[in-house]
Amino acid sequence: MIGQDVEVPDASATSRLLTDLASLVGEAHVLTDPDVTASYGIDWSRRFSGPVLAVVRPADTAQVAAVVAVVVAAGVPVLPQGGNTGLVGGSVPSPEGPAVVVISTRRLTHLDPVDDLAGQVTVGAGVVLADLQRHVSAAGWEYGVDLAARDSATVGGTIATNAGGIRVCCHGMTRRQVVGIEAVLPDSSVISHLAGLPKDNTGYDLTGLMVGSEGTLGIVTGARLRLVRPAIASAVALIGVRDAADALALVRSIVPRGVRLLAGEILDAATLRLVCDVTGFPWPLADHADHVLLVETESPAPGEIALDIPLDRDAVVAVDAADRARFWAYRDRVSECLSTLGVPHRFDISVPLERIDEFVAEMRNRLVSIAEVHTVLVFGHLVDGNLHIEVLGPDADDERADALVLRCVADHGGSISAEHGVGRAKAAYLGLSRSEAEIAAMRAVKAAFDPHALFNPGVLLP
Ligand SMILES: Cc1cc2nc3c(=O)[nH]c(=O)nc-3n(C[C@H](O)[C@H](O)[C@H](O)COP(=O)(O)OP(=O)(O)OC[C@H]3O[C@@H](n4cnc5c(N)ncnc54)[C@H](O)[C@@H]3O)c2cc1C
Repeated sequence: MIGQDVEVPDASATSRLLTDLASLVGEAHVLTDPDVTASYGIDWSRRFSGPVLAVVRPADTAQVAAVVAVVVAAGVPVLPQGGNTGLVGGSVPSPEGPAVVVISTRRLTHLDPVDDLAGQVTVGAGVVLADLQRHVSAAGWEYGVDLAARDSATVGGTIATNAGGIRVCCHGMTRRQVVGIEAVLPDSSVISHLAGLPKDNTGYDLTGLMVGSEGTLGIVTGARLRLVRPAIASAVALIGVRDAADALALVRSIVPRGVRLLAGEILDAATLRLVCDVTGFPWPLADHADHVLLVETESPAPGEIALDIPLDRDAVVAVDAADRARFWAYRDRVSECLSTLGVPHRFDISVPLERIDEFVAEMRNRLVSIAEVHTVLVFGHLVDGNLHIEVLGPDADDERADALVLRCVADHGGSISAEHGVGRAKAAYLGLSRSEAEIAAMRAVKAAFDPHALFNPGVLLP
């Protein structure tokens, strides 16, 4: 919805806007050819898409601010976009329009030298996670957030979604890594708080507010990030388990005291079978298992294994880098393999650890009522209580499965979005996880930052 006091531009106003944008960032960085802009208007899962007026690619924060000023003055919605790997429709326009200006951060790629004393680094919002990881690794550090979309997902996008990923059990979500932020607000002012002071109690936490704001409050242009020390070495095990309860109990018992748990993931048998079928990987265990647990722990020295796996368990363990990567590929390649089945209804939920199996059984039961559902796959970040559920069968715009699964999550005391964000996909269901008072407070924040409701309209808040 566009704010009431803002006019939608006509053709000549649009042409003036495009000319103004070209004068700010250079003609080569204002993309309007539909063949070129198409990929910016459709999301990674191909479930969500909408009209794009232009894609603008500013080179620095000053250009972002200038671009925001002219687009907002023209009354055109603004869509901040990083790697477009978001999975909740937040990184693409609404199908109902109006057409948006996508502000792509992909040229904001500066990487400052690592501050070894503080264990921090300042980087541009358009840096992709894999480049950040390589940069800090060369200086003996690690960035605490890692996910399978690492080659495309940007620092800005992961901040805007408060991304989780495979290391949350060890280092926490993105929020915990962000110690300062630079951002352009909808009124085109720039906030820059990049000193990275560990102690700084000077009013509202604007950095914290921008984390998880999904492009609705402004555009993150840079960030000061906390770094962690990499593991000395690690071992990855794949272990056959009955269910989530069995897997969680096993994690508790096989990780010795004082040993860092680096990851604890689960895949149900159907998901693992799909990965094997699509990739040609062999089934990794000796026998069939209902679920497979992937667990990684820090080792005291290369080649050593800090995992007390009982001998009667069907398990394989990898210690060298190539084998660890081979085991991780079963998990990393799930999303890509799923794409071969069609456009799934995708869920990223969390429930209390002790209720995971009960929730999954109840959800499967309820889904039987929708005749079109033919496949339900469950996998995810087990030790965080975070499951990814993929439901295949119903048409992309058929919301029955969405409503049913998210209601079931709420009935089990869970969150409808554990890490992907609310986006467009879950906006109508926000009330299942947030009270009316909380949503009203969020609306007040949104109105204060973005009075014309031009930043990512329809995302997060219904
Ligand atoms: C294979 C695969 C695996 C994934 N695994 C995980 C996972 O384990 N954990 C997880 O949390 N997510 C995961 N994701 C989802 C996705 O990678 C994350 O949501 C990521 O944070 C998105 O980053 P991006 O740069 O692609 O952002 P985009 O997709 O471009 O944007 C996402 C949202 O952030 C906003 N945004 C982007 N950049 C900015 C900015 N600079 N300032 C303000 N707003 C901005 C957009 O408007 C949009 O609302 C996965 C996705 C894929 C495809």
